[in-house]
Amino acid sequence: MPIYEYICLNCTEKFSVLQSIHASGHDTKCPKCASKEIKKVISAFCCSSGSAGASSSYPSGGFSGGG
Ligand SMILES: [Zn+2]
Repeated sequence: MPIYEYICLNCTEKFSVLQSIHASGHDTKCPKCASKEIKKVISAFCCSSGSAGASSSYPSGGFSGGG
């Protein structure tokens, strides 16, 4: 079951609700102020931010170890 994150527009309370896929989230309200003025927020699963100069190549072969 997926967990949806909501944010209350009334008290800006952020909470997560465990909803079923079939559920539409009609009776979802803020657990703090019980307000229906909520908004679903998208939770970032994997933040793939562009790194500055992400270029690293490993040398083929390996380390030259004395044998
Ligand atoms: Zn609230």
